[in-house]
Amino acid sequence: MNKHKGRLVLYTGCSGVGKGTIMKRLLERDPNIRLSVSNTTRAPREGEVHGVHYNFVSREAFIALADADGYIEYAEYCDNLYGTPKAQVEEMLEKGYHVFLEIEVQGGLQVMAQYPDVLSIFILPPSMEELEKRLRGRGTESEEVIRRRLEEAENEIKVAPRYRYRVVNDDLDRAVEEVLAILHGQQDSQSPQHCGDNIE
Ligand code: 5GP
Repeated sequence: MNKHKGRLVLYTGCSGVGKGTIMKRLLERDPNIRLSVSNTTRAPREGEVHGVHYNFVSREAFIALADADGYIEYAEYCDNLYGTPKAQVEEMLEKGYHVFLEIEVQGGLQVMAQYPDVLSIFILPPSMEELEKRLRGRGTESEEVIRRRLEEAENEIKVAPRYRYRVVNDDLDRAVEEVLAILHGQQDSQSPQHCGDNIE
C-alpha cells in the first residue's frame, strides 16, 4: 500500500475520441492508476461487464443513491444517468491510487467546483471529421445515436478550455505518453501544438 494519498484525475473526452483505449494502456503502464467504475442507467453494450465497465442500475436505484448523497457528481447524457459513487473513489484515494474519473463535461464541471486541485485532462480528436469516422467505425450505435453523440461532442469541446490539460489523440502512443507525463508532473504547461487548435 502507498503512503501518500493518490491524485484525483478528471479525464474527459467526447464519445468516439478513443479515451477508453488510452485508459486501457494507462492501466497497463502504471499500477498505481485505478479507474472509477460509474453507475449508469444505460443498457450494457455487447461485451460490457457489470462491475467492470459500469454498474448497470435501474433509474430507481440510481436516484435512491443520489438522494442519499452517494455521488461525487452525476449527470444526464443522451437520456441516461451516469454518476461517480463517492465511497469507492475516496477509498482508492486513501489507499494511494491515482483515481481517474472518465466522465462527461457536466459532471466534470461539478468535480472542478468541488475539488479545485483536481488534475483535469481533456482528450480531443484531431478533427470533427475524424471523430465522425471513428464513431461510425465502432459500429456499436445506431445512426440516430451517432448523430446525437456528434452534436454532444461539439458542445463538449467548447468546455475543453476549462480543463488544465488538453491532449489530442492523433497518435495513440504519443497521447498515452503525454497523459503519463502530465500525471507524473513532467509537464507544467500546455504545449501549443497539442491544444487541438484545429477544432472549432
Ligand atoms: P458511454 O455511454 O459512451 O459509455 O458514456 C457516455 C458519456 O458518459 C461518456 O462521455 C462517459 O465518459 C460519460 N460518463 C461515464 N461515466 C460517467 C459518470 O459517472 N458521470 C458522468 N458525469 N459522466 C460519465
